[in-house]
Order: sequence, then structure tokens, then C-alpha cells
Amino acid sequence: MKIPIVSDEEAETADYVVCVPADTPSPFDDNLTGFCCECGIKVIYRWHAPRKPKRLCMDCFVKNPDLLLRFTKLAAKKGDDREER
Ligand SMILES: [Zn+2]
Repeated sequence: MKIPIVSDEEAETADYVVCVPADTPSPFDDNLTGFCCECGIKVIYRWHAPRKPKRLCMDCFVKNPDLLLRFTKLAAKKGDDREER
């Protein structure tokens, strides 16, 4: 699966930031914490993640077919843009 690469400004306009659950081993000790907007579990994310979008945990992301589909379409679209240049 292609992952779209966006600027920080674009990232701030995203609907969600997918985060990992707080008990996920992380090599960083300065992670910020938040709560999943769907299931409410504690999640961690890096300080440079966009601030405005809602947090969504990885579990809720993979369990949500609509989001997965939107993400895949977005990734495909971004991929096409890139190839045209
Ligand atoms: Zn969740």
C-alpha cells in the first residue's frame, strides 16, 4: 500500500491521525498521549504529529472499512499525482 506524503499544512487538515495504543513499545520517551476518538483508549503519538485532526487508534482504523477505503483511494490518487510530474 502506498502511503501519501503530505506537507505539515496538509496534514493539519486531515480528518484523523492514526496513533498506536499507549502500551505499544516505542523507541521514544517523549511521546505525547491522547485518546482515541472512537474507543477512548489512551494512545501515543510523536510531538510532530498534526494537532488538529482527531486521534484514532490503529485498531479502530483497521476495523473501519470506510476509513481504510478512503485511505487507499487517497494513497492511490497521491501516487498518480506523483507519477505525472
Ligand atoms: Zn480506538
